Amino acid sequence: MSATETRLREEICWFGKSLYDRGLTPGSSGNISARVDDGWLMTPTNACLGRLDPAALSKVDAKGNSISGDKPTKESFLHLSMYAERPSAGAIVHLHSTHSVAVSVLADTDPENPIPPITAYYVMKIGKLALLPYYAPGDLTLANAVREVAGRHHAVLLANHGPVVAGKDLSTAVYATEELEETARLYLMLRGERLRLLTPDQVAELHLKYPS
Ligand SMILES: [Zn+2]
Repeated sequence: MSATETRLREEICWFGKSLYDRGLTPGSSGNISARVDDGWLMTPTNACLGRLDPAALSKVDAKGNSISGDKPTKESFLHLSMYAERPSAGAIVHLHSTHSVAVSVLADTDPENPIPPITAYYVMKIGKLALLPYYAPGDLTLANAVREVAGRHHAVLLANHGPVVAGKDLSTAVYATEELEETARLYLMLRGERLRLLTPDQVAELHLKYPS
């Protein structure tokens, strides 16, 4: 195993524990994946992200077949559909984090703009979030729905389920997921208030300066 892969395995476990310890991924929910030379590392099925073992992480090949380690997460197809449309993505984080899930449940949400541009960091790290309709767990047609939007959006919110966020590397994907969760929390706090959002010009300037 390369030194890079060894380090990446440790990093996945470290971030998993950090997310778990802060209540961002309770129970055995959530999963993390990262690209390696010969496929992907994924967190195992039914694993608690707070207690991952670097040696037991699942490794899958380019087609998603398990090569070594424990059986991969049942949601591995979500990750693989995102990677298929985003060749530059190095890692993906999927959580059932409370505030993001809460926003995904709100009725009458614009699927092209489920959270408005409240802060500059949200625009810089998430860009434009896409809301996908509800699919039952394990419904493989969700893979097609993700593929349809993943080329244009590196962050998607699955209705009544949670966010899936890609990044160029693991820390970028984790930090973007955390930014989304905190922005969802702010957005919920501000519901019913009159808001002064970033203007379209301010958003366009950020997209230009910090392409995501
Ligand atoms: Zn999930």
